[in-house]
Amino acid sequence: MISIGDNFGYLTVIADAGMKRISNLSKYDSPHFLCQCGCGNQIEVSEPSLHYNIVKSCGCNKNRRTFSIKETKPAPVIVPVPVQVQA
Ligand SMILES: [Zn+2]
Repeated sequence: MISIGDNFGYLTVIADAGMKRISNLSKYDSPHFLCQCGCGNQIEVSEPSLHYNIVKSCGCNKNRRTFSIKETKPAPVIVPVPVQVQA
């Protein structure tokens, strides 16, 4: 039984969203809950998805990628060493 205030990963249940069809493939309506994600987004999640920990965030943790920032280091400046030529 899921109730308001329950936590599922990043999600916190904040409201009952009523009975809804999970997808076009499903024949039955399932209880849905409005959840607040830790990132600030709000999504509606079906009760089974929460119950079985299928959905634990709005999707932000899946999309979170570490972008490799290419370091733009300037090419090492080769300082010509003055050659002292002894005359
Ligand atoms: Zn999120």
